[in-house]
Amino acid sequence: MGSFDWHYALGLLADADLWRAALLVVELAVAAWVLSTALGLLVALAQQSRLRPLRLLASAYVWFFRSLPLLVLLIFVYNSPQLFPDLRPLLSSPFTAGLVALVLSETAYIAEIHRGGLLAVGKEQGEAAQALGIPYAGVQRHVVVPQAFRVALPALGNEFISILKLTSLVSSISLAELLLVGQRLYTQNFLVLETLLAVAVYYVMLVTAFDRLRALLEHRLDVRRRRTKAGADTAPKSVAVPAAPQGEAVPAAPVRTRPRTPHEGEVVVRARGLRKSFGPVTVLDGVDLDVHRGEVVAVIGPSGSGKTTLVRTLNHLEQPDQGSVEIDGRLMGGKDRELAAQRRHVGMVFQRFNLFPHRTVLQNITLAPLQQRLSGRADAERRARELLGKVGLDSHAHKYPHQLSGGQQQRVAIARALAMNPSVLLFDEPTSALDPELVGEVLSVMSDLAADGTTMVVVTHEMRFAREVADWVVFMNHGRILVQGPPETVFDHSGEPRLERFFAAIGPA
Ligand code: ADP
Ligand code: MG
Repeated sequence: MGSFDWHYALGLLADADLWRAALLVVELAVAAWVLSTALGLLVALAQQSRLRPLRLLASAYVWFFRSLPLLVLLIFVYNSPQLFPDLRPLLSSPFTAGLVALVLSETAYIAEIHRGGLLAVGKEQGEAAQALGIPYAGVQRHVVVPQAFRVALPALGNEFISILKLTSLVSSISLAELLLVGQRLYTQNFLVLETLLAVAVYYVMLVTAFDRLRALLEHRLDVRRRRTKAGADTAPKSVAVPAAPQGEAVPAAPVRTRPRTPHEGEVVVRARGLRKSFGPVTVLDGVDLDVHRGEVVAVIGPSGSGKTTLVRTLNHLEQPDQGSVEIDGRLMGGKDRELAAQRRHVGMVFQRFNLFPHRTVLQNITLAPLQQRLSGRADAERRARELLGKVGLDSHAHKYPHQLSGGQQQRVAIARALAMNPSVLLFDEPTSALDPELVGEVLSVMSDLAADGTTMVVVTHEMRFAREVADWVVFMNHGRILVQGPPETVFDHSGEPRLERFFAAIGPA
């Protein structure tokens, strides 16, 4: 058995050249990772683009650079000045050539990681931001990408470690990184195993250090671990919202507390001839609807009759195939920024709340006003707190959505929509996703809004709400408005058999 020079191997751990090489490896890996992470995100977004050429280009990029062995790419890039002499100043340094090759290749891998992250963020998150009147770039930047990044982080961290080790390939174009420095040493003294052991230890140290960093970052970005500071906010949610409310005025049955708004006068929403099909299925089959200032319109009807599609067309989350929507006399339609500007006048509350989980309650409410520079931070926060007061959640400003009950989340969603001072608020079954004991608190907030003169369109199965709070009730069936009128007419005297059957099926109001 031969001898192993432990003394020499250990001594290499304090070798200045190897430490310099380790630093170089870190510099190269960090630069390659940062650049590829940024560029990979752009490629991933391009793969989702509505523009076909952009999509194809991005997919071709990923396909090509994932197929190419890094070593081939590396040598090609380093020698490319033979073909393109202009590149010589840039690529003659092994560090830059190595960086370019690593970034070209890693961008393709990381694009796929980002794509997974982006797909994991539900479509409804983007829609909730769009509904607040935020244009595409803002939606991606503030809502989709931060959440996608959080999902992608473990895989991105893993990729960093791959890059760290792949830098050893750059020794082939004579970058003085760890492997090359090691090779130079053992060609002089032939202590191959000792030197490689030391090189291995350097890599293990680097990987371990960066893996720790990744774990710390992951921990920091995990909002689910966050707890609000000690104080008023810390009460557990089951206590914060008593099922049998004291102080919070939640009527068992909403009662009409205001004179009826007539179905005439100033029109806020004017929809004409709306048609929409999904493939062969006609979902909206010529819908005309007027909503007047201060009016509450309840939309009822069987499942699949097109209610959701109707409200989504009103703010153009769904583009109608035919027909038009005017909000306050302004025709909806156009490109990203135009649509975003129009949507500011239309608030929307979704069935599943769709709060932004990575932002606090306060940040959920101030995002759109701040993003659109409607006010400064102090003003936006003052207004947000005012709205939180209005929905009975003053003390929850710094909580994250997951720390709230469903009813509380939906009330935040209402406050968030109100922060844009919309001309009309759209609700798509706002209480359907709630436990029964939480329905009342949301309906109560909605009744208060109605009493304040808020113009609302409410898709609902809460017949009591439709009867007591709505000024006008619309019954949809197979994509058409079959009956509309004041609640007592629709509920008691329509004489329409399909409506009677619907009421019979869902039980008495
Ligand atoms: P409602 O809200 O009254 O239950 P919807 O407007 O959600 O009705 O849906 C009406 C019909 O349109 C349903 O048959 C539904 O399956 C179909 N539909 C809705 N959205 C889509 C979509 N994005 N793609 C295909 N079909 C859809
Ligand atoms: Mg629906």
